[in-house]
Amino acid sequence: MNARENKIPRRKTRQVKVGKIFIGGDAPISIQSMTKLPTEEVDLVLRQIERLVAEGCEIVRLAVPDRKAAKALQEIRKGTDAPLVADIHLNYRLALEAIDNGVDKVRVNPGYLREKEQVQAVIRKAKAAGIPIRVGANSGSILRAGEMGRARLSGMAQAMVDRVADYLTLFEEEDFGDIVISLKASDVVETVRAYELMAERCDYPFHVGITACGPPSTGIVASSMGIGHLLLEGIGDTVRVSLTGDPVDEVRIAKRILQGLGLRGFGPMIISCPTCGRCHGDLVSIVQEVEEKLSTVSLPIKVAVMGCEVNGPGEAAEADIGVALGRGHAVLFRTGMVVRKVRLQEVADALLLEATSLPEE
Ligand code: SF4
Repeated sequence: MNARENKIPRRKTRQVKVGKIFIGGDAPISIQSMTKLPTEEVDLVLRQIERLVAEGCEIVRLAVPDRKAAKALQEIRKGTDAPLVADIHLNYRLALEAIDNGVDKVRVNPGYLREKEQVQAVIRKAKAAGIPIRVGANSGSILRAGEMGRARLSGMAQAMVDRVADYLTLFEEEDFGDIVISLKASDVVETVRAYELMAERCDYPFHVGITACGPPSTGIVASSMGIGHLLLEGIGDTVRVSLTGDPVDEVRIAKRILQGLGLRGFGPMIISCPTCGRCHGDLVSIVQEVEEKLSTVSLPIKVAVMGCEVNGPGEAAEADIGVALGRGHAVLFRTGMVVRKVRLQEVADALLLEATSLPEE
């Protein structure tokens, strides 16, 4: 099997458990997303969770802005075994209620929950319940008024890291180490820098992502650059791609980032050429059909779809299987070696047959 499994050395971290998923240590880098409906709309939320899980989402976060949402978590808990995270902003009592209602992790934002006694109450409750807390900092919310000037001098990344490190002393005073950290800005460079700086200061696992990075047209680029850069440095234990849109797309993109770096495998990855004047057919439509047909295959293989048989097999030699278009036909190849000819209209079916005949390793 030619599927790439990269051994990018990962930053050594402690490990925490969120429901049935481990974050950090030697656990696979997990994928998470967030529901985008009022949490009290229990049936709709459960349906969205079901769609997320079906796509490969491993941890689901829900906003808990008020009592209605906190109460709804009880019903949501009964309706899914997906690891659930309660996202808390200002009201620490909502965190306590969410824990009572069975969530698997709580996210607090040091920019919003600042009173020492309130943070302590959440830490103690999480400790008693045996669940972790994500200290999730966002550049916009974390800096107190008056700190923006300092941030401009020392850099936003350094200012964020200093504030989170300061906040973490509250957890350390309570002897609570079941922590995941995130340090997100909408600026890719500041975000990357913040995680790099924090990585030098602690061994807590990191939730990585770029916040508020826009609709898919820009958000996918920003997330791929930021998350991809960090993962290549071995930084990142769970990822969330934030997009203005369907959360299922966040999961799809997260999977592609992880698979593109050879860190996890989620089924076939299509390598197709950009086409040029040598292309012998409608490669765009053929690729779409191949993508659809192969979506049922779970083997993490590379499948090439190339526009001409002169360059195609050689350019895609690292693919497990592939096709290259010729005049009125296509050649099917395995690891660069042509094995047979197929008719153009049968390309997708032929690749599906090949993919399902490959041995599982
Ligand atoms: S594989 Fe052929 S058609 Fe595709 S870009 Fe290369 S030369 Fe052009």
